[in-house]
Amino acid sequence: LDEFKAVNDRFGHSVGDGLLKQVAERLVDAVRESDSVARLGGDEFTVILEGNHRVEDAGHVATKILRSLQVPYHVGPHKLHVTASIGIALYPVDGQNSQELLRDADIAMYSAKAAGKNTYQYFTPELREKTSERLHLIDGLRRAIEARQELELVYQPKIDIRDNSIIGVEALVRWHHPELGLVLPDRFVPLAEETDLILPIGDWVIVEACRQMKAWQVAGLGELTVSVNVSSRQLRHGDLVEKIEVALAETGLAPEFLEIEITEGTLVEDTGLATRTLERLRAMGVQVSIDDFGTGYSSLGYLQRLPIDRLKIDRTFVRDLPVSDDATALSAAVVGLAQSLHLDVVAEGVETIEQLEILRSLDCFKVQGFLIARPLHVEQARQFLEDGPPPILGQDAAASTEVAQSAI
Ligand code: C2E
Ligand code: MG
Ligand code: MG
Repeated sequence: LDEFKAVNDRFGHSVGDGLLKQVAERLVDAVRESDSVARLGGDEFTVILEGNHRVEDAGHVATKILRSLQVPYHVGPHKLHVTASIGIALYPVDGQNSQELLRDADIAMYSAKAAGKNTYQYFTPELREKTSERLHLIDGLRRAIEARQELELVYQPKIDIRDNSIIGVEALVRWHHPELGLVLPDRFVPLAEETDLILPIGDWVIVEACRQMKAWQVAGLGELTVSVNVSSRQLRHGDLVEKIEVALAETGLAPEFLEIEITEGTLVEDTGLATRTLERLRAMGVQVSIDDFGTGYSSLGYLQRLPIDRLKIDRTFVRDLPVSDDATALSAAVVGLAQSLHLDVVAEGVETIEQLEILRSLDCFKVQGFLIARPLHVEQARQFLEDGPPPILGQDAAASTEVAQSAI
């Protein structure tokens, strides 16, 4: 099942169990009497289609199962939606025994999940290779968390172009893999979310970012804010507020200097828990920002009710700014929306002076991007905070290029 954990988190285990029973009934209804349906553990079911089938028959049955599973469920007072990802392995081509078949079906199932979920996938030998890479990364990530050595936070400054002042930094996680070298979050954060390793990683990120910002403040580098990215899994797990309270208390950072960034997609899927968590955080004084705004289809009415301080215009709009009228119109719309809802707005991914000038003309004055600085190692970030932003607008464009090149 896709996202079954979210059901357990939101509604509790007894609702989760009720859902599993109904899924089992639908599976039994979707196949023939002579076929077998089993639940081998957690949210994983196995179906054996016996007899002389053609290869494509398995796909047809998978389609039928997917359709039947996506009809809403009623468990107690709750109406639930759940989809599944299906992996298919064939005897005898893919595996000679049940163990091999299960293993290959499992590999194909992960590939179906990676392909966007709510779909099926046949096993192929190439998938096996990809999967072993995936498992290798997951193992490595476990080790990295235990050892606490391979993860690093880098910091990307945000500035206000009206007075060229620094407003804060965003903490971004980096993984230095002993064999693979630098691994960027786009590659490992999704794996960490799938396996719940994002919880210990996220805990570490919050504490480390607060500790670093407090140290910079004590060193007299200014009353700046540190932003931390929080994934939907952390937001829904239930103890984020307590984790943040402890991090602030332990490090001595005042809550108003911590901001959390949540992607728009996370909030759109939410049925209440995430919103309540954000409300509690804001009541504590922590700031909340919607990341990658413009990509998640939130409605206006919905946005108005959300407990947030700030929108971050998605990088893809900013990227297309000089060339695309649509991108300009969309950026202008986001700024207008923020203004009318009394929200702050920040543009991310600003790489050129042209983009910066368009944003300025749209009344978006807070920016972040390679033009100002790349994400910087702690030492470089400290230097940046000390020196202040490069004179990005003057003739001295060379200075900003130098900064941009020196970091990661
Ligand atoms: P994000 O929060 O939207 O972060 C901005 C990303 O854009 C960063 O990529 C940053 O390096 C990159 N970026 C900044 N300025 C520019 C620019 O001018 N041009 C271009 N092309 N890119 C720019 P990064 O560090 O690879 O992070 C990618 C995503 O991974 C982040 O997107 C965030 O969603 C996630 N992430 C990063 N750190 C963490 C973390 O500690 N926890 C969680 N849950 N997610 C994280
Ligand atoms: Mg972010
Ligand atoms: Mg973003």
